[in-house]
Amino acid sequence: MALQFDLRRAVENDQLILHYQPKVDLTSHCVSGVEALVRWQHPEHGLIYPDAFITLAEKNGLMKQLTLKVLKMALRQCDLWYQQNLNLNMAVNISAINLQDPIFPDRVAELLGKFSVPACYIELEITETAIMTDPLRAIENIKKLNGMGLQVSIDDFGTGYSSMAYLKELLVAKIKIDKSFVMEMDSNQSDDIIVRSTIDLGHNLGLKVVAEGVESQKSWDRLKELGCDSAQGYFMSQPITADQFMEWIKES
Ligand code: C2E
Ligand code: CA
Ligand code: CA
Repeated sequence: MALQFDLRRAVENDQLILHYQPKVDLTSHCVSGVEALVRWQHPEHGLIYPDAFITLAEKNGLMKQLTLKVLKMALRQCDLWYQQNLNLNMAVNISAINLQDPIFPDRVAELLGKFSVPACYIELEITETAIMTDPLRAIENIKKLNGMGLQVSIDDFGTGYSSMAYLKELLVAKIKIDKSFVMEMDSNQSDDIIVRSTIDLGHNLGLKVVAEGVESQKSWDRLKELGCDSAQGYFMSQPITADQFMEWIKES
């Protein structure tokens, strides 16, 4: 209960910060973009990771506010990079609550209007489960967001209640293969088959495929061999602050 109370204050009082994890193109080896990942800088408990508070925020009606805060911080950073001629795609995670919220696209449009970076640099990551909560409403929102020029991608692909319908309708630009398959693909043949088949499925539908949870050179090489488009994981970089990211990009 104490954490619940603190979280409300955290969202209101700017205790949320973002770390950024690069996504690297497997062909060109260039950084194609980053994923913004929220952390809670708690005054007493230090840095708290999202797995410990996202569900709490969802249960306590804080998710709409939290997502808009995250989106605003991500947009500000993306805009700053854009003005420095660093054209990076910025991906933000959105929850089922946002996807079901009929005014969410309007809120996103309002925020976009405050910055100069074009909407096509912004990507929203959603899970299959979030779509399946109320597919009709979700699809309506995805269509509106697409219409505004934003990209939508499917996160944790392969772990939720899959529906090929939205993939078929080409409502999404990208699928992200869940890290649970990618992390074990070196040692587990079934995971390797799942990763390979997902890449083929995505490509046959004209979608880009991102692998997350790339932890080794071996996984990187295998994904390259399988024709996967880009990779994200500890092998390249952990999620880091914007300053650390600038250092990382210079060094690499
Ligand atoms: P996700 O969207 O699947 O994000 C990827 C998670 O995998 C991140 O954990 C990242 O640090 C971790 N990861 C990245 N590369 C590797 C790797 O090579 N190996 C391993 N073992 N892990 C890797 P993080 O930052 O703790 O985030 C956890 C989850 O919290 C995210 O999973 C996402 O579902 C949620 N989340 C994070 N930020 C937000 C946000 O702003 N809004 C919402 N709604 N959810 C968020
Ligand atoms: Ca994600
Ligand atoms: Ca994921």
